[in-house]
Amino acid sequence: MYRDGARKSIWQEEIRKFSTENDLSQLFDVAVIGGGITGVSTALKLQESGKKCIILEGSNIGYGTTGGTTAHLNDFFDTTFSEVIQDFGIDNARLYAESGTDAISIIENNIRKYNISCDFTRKSAYLFALDEKQESQLKDIVEGAAKVGHEMTYISDIPFPIPFREAVHISGQGHFHPIKYIKGLCDAFIKMGGAIKENCFCEDHDEQENEVILRTSAGEVRAKNAIYATHIPPGINLLHFTNAPYRSYAMAFTLKDDKYPWELGYDLDDPYHYYRIQEINGENLLIAGGEDHKTGHADDTGECFSRLENYVRQYFNVETVFYSWSSQYYEPVDGLPYIGKLPGSNGKIFVATGFRGNGMIFGTLSSQILHDLIVTGKNKYQDLFSPTRIKPVAGFSDFVKENAAVAMDFVKDKLFIEKIDSFSEIKAGEAKVIRYESESYALYKESDGTLHLLKSTCPHAACEVRWNSAELSWDCPCHGSRFNVNGKILTGPTTRNLQKIFPYQKH
Ligand SMILES: Cc1cc2nc3c(=O)[nH]c(=O)nc-3n(C[C@H](O)[C@H](O)[C@H](O)COP(=O)(O)OP(=O)(O)OC[C@H]3O[C@@H](n4cnc5c(N)ncnc54)[C@H](O)[C@@H]3O)c2cc1C
Repeated sequence: MYRDGARKSIWQEEIRKFSTENDLSQLFDVAVIGGGITGVSTALKLQESGKKCIILEGSNIGYGTTGGTTAHLNDFFDTTFSEVIQDFGIDNARLYAESGTDAISIIENNIRKYNISCDFTRKSAYLFALDEKQESQLKDIVEGAAKVGHEMTYISDIPFPIPFREAVHISGQGHFHPIKYIKGLCDAFIKMGGAIKENCFCEDHDEQENEVILRTSAGEVRAKNAIYATHIPPGINLLHFTNAPYRSYAMAFTLKDDKYPWELGYDLDDPYHYYRIQEINGENLLIAGGEDHKTGHADDTGECFSRLENYVRQYFNVETVFYSWSSQYYEPVDGLPYIGKLPGSNGKIFVATGFRGNGMIFGTLSSQILHDLIVTGKNKYQDLFSPTRIKPVAGFSDFVKENAAVAMDFVKDKLFIEKIDSFSEIKAGEAKVIRYESESYALYKESDGTLHLLKSTCPHAACEVRWNSAELSWDCPCHGSRFNVNGKILTGPTTRNLQKIFPYQKH
């Protein structure tokens, strides 16, 4: 398996194993934990500055959301400029606007410098309002953008066959193949002497006066600085209370009439739909995404794909669905990413998380911010994106309330978990959380009748996992930890598997 789900994403064919000869007993300058776009970009940037770096990846490079993204490159974001002006002030909103331009320049620069062939293409983007409410949202987006000097122009036509009320054109956007891109970065990193250790899961750290000791599945690794580029840091941290996990769904289609919309498109539904084109093996494919929900909060995740497909079929002449996959992202409580010193660290451990649907940009930007903080001690974005910022914003109480509602759900789950007397009541392909002799279990029956029985309590913060039929995983609705049917970790922040009852495995 090369990705943290049972479905194959459109990028997955390009995922390769990376291995370097590693002397793990040496003291590294920086250990970067996580081999997605954030970890790989940051390790390369630091290695370029002469730092001796190692990437420690729990599975393989591209295993996480970078292997399940859709890779639009935007310099406008899910958190709008108007929202940032209101919550953080106009100067910070201008800085926020710069971050997108800076990140796309870093990507372009890396592609040029290391001659990376990754289908990078500059595109225009179209934002379109489908109803009256969205029209007013669009007006707000455009007004906010104008205040920070970001041009969005009203237009009367869009290159998407979708009836709309109002739309804007935004130039200077782009897209690429994310796995080809990070493969190119890894090659450059290795050529410069960087080390990569795959299948190396980081369980814990010990921050000492002069170094950080990382306890990993491959033994201890020592480094002067450590960076958690794991999308969300492992263990229990303040960041698990200021970020909420969400799933998003993507599908790739061929069209009968060859009328592919060549630009980037976004409606303003909640959750919104997003569109782009990618060529794979000489075939054009329309990638459409949407149907986002909080992790563990959809009764039937398979239905999210049906809804997305039906929606796309309303407007496009769909021939075949070639790929369908889902992946996870994190929503920060105040709308901005957290990039900088890990809360609770004495200054040697850094983190990057809370990217919403803009992680190609903020993961890339993290490489510059974290490089600067480690090498020079300062960066222009350090205060705006500080993981320890305390910013009372309007959404905060809703966020806390929402999490409280999740906690209530667990109590309900415990009380109402289905009672079954015999495992034979479970049908092939079915999964259930069951109560059996006063304990609760996660049970999945394969089509050949093999039963997988696990304790259903997430070892991270003792919440009850829920079945994700689309990716055949047990997902924790609290902080987004995910496990396969054997209880093995797919996605952090947990560092422990779900306890397995049977079938037993020797290792
Ligand atoms: C469906 C979808 C579509 C998206 N589309 C876009 C888009 O169009 N544009 C955009 O800008 N953003 C998009 N995003 C967001 C973006 O893809 C992510 O924010 C980004 O990929 C995150 O990259 P990352 O490197 O931080 O994390 P990841 O890619 O998740 O990498 C983290 C890595 O850390 C490893 N790891 C985790 N824990 C440990 C541990 N304890 N020890 C060792 N290794 C560990 C994992 O195996 C993984 O490989 C999308 C997100 C989703 C879900």
